[in-house]
Amino acid sequence: MQPPCLLCGHHPHYRHNICKACLEDLPWAQPPIVNQTLGYAYSACALNYLPPINGLIKQFKHQRNLAAGCLLEYCLSKTISSALLEQQLLLPQLLIPVPLHRTRLRHRGFNQAEFIAHGLSKHLHIPMCKNLCLRLGDQAPLQGQNRRQRLRHMQGVFEVNTKEVNSRLHSIAIVDDVTTTGATAQALSSCLQSAWPNPLHIQLWCLARTPAPKTQLEW
Ligand SMILES: [Zn+2]
Repeated sequence: MQPPCLLCGHHPHYRHNICKACLEDLPWAQPPIVNQTLGYAYSACALNYLPPINGLIKQFKHQRNLAAGCLLEYCLSKTISSALLEQQLLLPQLLIPVPLHRTRLRHRGFNQAEFIAHGLSKHLHIPMCKNLCLRLGDQAPLQGQNRRQRLRHMQGVFEVNTKEVNSRLHSIAIVDDVTTTGATAQALSSCLQSAWPNPLHIQLWCLARTPAPKTQLEW
């Protein structure tokens, strides 16, 4: 017996906990690939942070609904595969999930970015490293700040484990759940760039981006 679709509960299950009709109806990000000048080359996002995606992401993160996590990861994997096929993205050599601070990790019980990176690693055959970066601070970028303020706020939040630095690596994708201002990825990118002996090509892979700047995120 196939499990029902997580969204409609009626249609026969297609794959990854969603039926074909609901999959087509999702608020897919247009365009999925956006060039950036924030210390990383571009961001690839599967979806817009709108219903039903915001609800699924909350269930995944805060209620540990891993079926929702698998569904969301499948959407990102599908987006990345097409972009790689169309040569819109450079195939990275390594996936880095955005680390959680140890207090938050203890509280939540798992790192949602690591769960997504693990699925992507399996589906796209790219290795993942979860020990390369540490999160020293628990702060997230604040709403309503300009770019310089946000970066200052995020300064010193991340640290690179120098034992894991490999100078043969030149292309990395940072994996996160939701991107709002890009300040988290920017802070992590600049930390990686300064720890690396040679220039790194960095991209950000995200489940969803928030279309409205005023959307308040629980992270
Ligand atoms: Zn459905």
